[in-house]
Amino acid sequence: MSETLRNQSLDKLENFINDGILSYSYKRNYDYGPKNRSNISLLSPYIRKRILHEKEVINKCLKHFDLNKIEKFIQEVFWRVYWKGWLEGRTKVWADYKKNLESSISEYSSGEKKQNYYLALQGKTGINCFDDWIKELKNYGYLHNHSRMWFASIWIHTLQLPWELGANFFLKNLIDGDPASNTLSWRWVAGLHTQGKCYVASEDNIKKFSDGRYSQKNILNKQITLPEFKNFVFEKKEYNTQKFSKKNNLILLNINNLSYLEETIEIMKENLICFINHDEVYEYSTLPKKFNKNSMDEYLIFLKDKGIKCKNFPTFENFFKFFEKSEFSEIFAFYPSIGYELDYLNLQFRKYNVNLNFIYDNFDKLCWEHASSGFFKFKSKIPHLISKIN
Ligand SMILES: Cc1cc2nc3c(=O)[nH]c(=O)nc-3n(C[C@H](O)[C@H](O)[C@H](O)COP(=O)(O)OP(=O)(O)OC[C@H]3O[C@@H](n4cnc5c(N)ncnc54)[C@H](O)[C@@H]3O)c2cc1C
Repeated sequence: MSETLRNQSLDKLENFINDGILSYSYKRNYDYGPKNRSNISLLSPYIRKRILHEKEVINKCLKHFDLNKIEKFIQEVFWRVYWKGWLEGRTKVWADYKKNLESSISEYSSGEKKQNYYLALQGKTGINCFDDWIKELKNYGYLHNHSRMWFASIWIHTLQLPWELGANFFLKNLIDGDPASNTLSWRWVAGLHTQGKCYVASEDNIKKFSDGRYSQKNILNKQITLPEFKNFVFEKKEYNTQKFSKKNNLILLNINNLSYLEETIEIMKENLICFINHDEVYEYSTLPKKFNKNSMDEYLIFLKDKGIKCKNFPTFENFFKFFEKSEFSEIFAFYPSIGYELDYLNLQFRKYNVNLNFIYDNFDKLCWEHASSGFFKFKSKIPHLISKIN
């Protein structure tokens, strides 16, 4: 196989099914360091862009093993779509996050607050594990799930920094940076997700699950103050795509939906597929930016090989000029889900006063309506959801 990201993702999945998935449930919480990741799948960057769709992951795994043998892994794969659905029904959570982030950025831009914040960002806090994770995140664009939890806990409860600044730092640097999984996980650690509960890292837990790599004592704050809790009511939405004739539509791609599923390719056939440069959507750091670019470049090559017509535009201005002169009367776009990509798209379409019709992913539509309350309830629907996707 040639070394495309798509092929890499399929190889990783196959290796994980052969060597890691059966021991996943009892090994997954160990972070053995960046050189030893055989206990987890490392599929998140691909799943995040849908280079590997959740449906493919789930169906491939279940071809090899019964659900009861690999349940923990399948549940984790469902967590991402659950978080997305939870946020879709609570748009205000994302809007509040962005507003509070802006004010925290300005509050922490001078004086002692800035100094402490910058020491953390540079990995100079004196808390060894935390300082290492800062470097690891910058060098690899990835952190193990348990380390993400410990990191967020130390950031919020020990260093007493605003959680929004930490979430923003993650989103900038993670190759799998996902507005829903990231924002909601940080809120959960902070104590904003479940009333009366937050996640607090302990030195013993870090020592055990870092396989003894970190054993500093008396470094973490244990006097935790829970923040004020605000309940966000789930608003059920309809995700209906306006009907379009099979042919001659103009469809916009975005970086969050690079799906290789046959059902996605079917939608695109005999239509014009457009991509507009996304660089100004959000300030991703070098690694995620490079991953985004490579994923999109590869995807466009794949579509062209399938005989699908594609057109690239450097800016929205170029795109709208083209649209005005074209014979198309409408624009369709794959729905990017709540996050900076959607905000940017909405902003541009409002600016140019053009209507936008979204195309929703079938798996998202299927799952999101069950994401109104806790994951425990959602989890009970997993067998039903699986029965609908294979
Ligand atoms: C503070 C914090 C921030 C996070 N930010 C992100 C993020 O921006 N993007 C992201 O994809 N995940 C995020 N996660 C979840 C999780 O850490 C990563 O999905 C996981 O570490 C990816 O590694 P993996 O592919 O080897 O996962 P595996 O353990 O092999 O799991 C398989 C897949 O299931 C999904 N998954 C697993 N755990 C979770 C979870 N807790 N929440 C949502 N999906 C999950 C991912 O798609 C993952 O690829 C965050 C977790 C925390 C605590």
